[in-house]
Amino acid sequence: MPVVGRFAPSPTGALHLGSARTLLAAWLSVRQQRGRFIWRVEDLDGPRTVPGAVEQAMDDARWLGLDWDEGPDRSGPHAPYAQSERSALYDAALQRLADAGRVFPCLRSRKDLQTLASAPHGPAAGALPGTEGVPPYPKAWRPSMPLPPGWLRPDLDAAVRFLVPVGTVGFNDRVQGRVEEDTAAAVGDFVLKRRDGAFAYQLAVVVDDLAMGVTEVVRGVDLLDSTARQLHLIGALGGNVPAYAHVGLVVNEAGEKLSKRDGALALAALRERGVAAESVVGWLAHSLGLATAAEPLTARALVDGFRWARVPAGPVVASGEL
Ligand code: GLU
Repeated sequence: MPVVGRFAPSPTGALHLGSARTLLAAWLSVRQQRGRFIWRVEDLDGPRTVPGAVEQAMDDARWLGLDWDEGPDRSGPHAPYAQSERSALYDAALQRLADAGRVFPCLRSRKDLQTLASAPHGPAAGALPGTEGVPPYPKAWRPSMPLPPGWLRPDLDAAVRFLVPVGTVGFNDRVQGRVEEDTAAAVGDFVLKRRDGAFAYQLAVVVDDLAMGVTEVVRGVDLLDSTARQLHLIGALGGNVPAYAHVGLVVNEAGEKLSKRDGALALAALRERGVAAESVVGWLAHSLGLATAAEPLTARALVDGFRWARVPAGPVVASGEL
């Protein structure tokens, strides 16, 4: 099977050291195996999309010496490469899941779930928050009657949830090791399409990774708890499970994940301050366990020596002094 990797940033801001570190690891892994590398734009969250962020991120990546074989700037056999243009595929997948009886419409709100958690004598009193910060979706809220054929219509005024099967799913992460989750207990039936018509990240990412033949997924460890849900969806839609590598986050000196507030650590800002691309790559390589010191390096020079086993699982602190 040909190796296919992808970088799938959400265009919500500038590429910073954290996203660059994930990108570099994803790129090195694919380039070492002479595979194809895809740049995909995860712009489903329209209101959070920052104009120009897609071009800026690609520009920053080129500055680092990275390239890709398919993407919004060059097209390719899996176009379009922006999720906002791929709704027809997500709808088709949802229809297949509906035909297989794996999804159901839901009129409950997030608030209903939160109320359930705080109800002193409610059925879920004392329930721990699930991985989404709300209690797992109760089985009692599933439809009690069989759904009429054709219920999944384009004008459906309800969210669509995935019927999570019982049991544990697991995978061997290349960085984090063995991960297992009983999704029914931890999250419950999760949303694939919101009532307002927006597709959920979990559905879009699985549909796209399957459609694009992705064999390895590299992303930040903050998405580790999404993977079990994605495994369920891959199982339901049919397709090969990719290899996963969840890379530790780059944090600021307060230990927080880099965000817009850490603008000084955006690649564009480093560039403006006159920091050389090789210095950034050197710092990233050192933080990934691929170089003994943070000395200037090119990305190409790292390809042959890249090993997942060297990449540390935990966070790294960026001080701004590269
Ligand atoms: N869009 C996600 C992000 O920017 C990455 C999703 C993924 O790689 O699966 O963090």
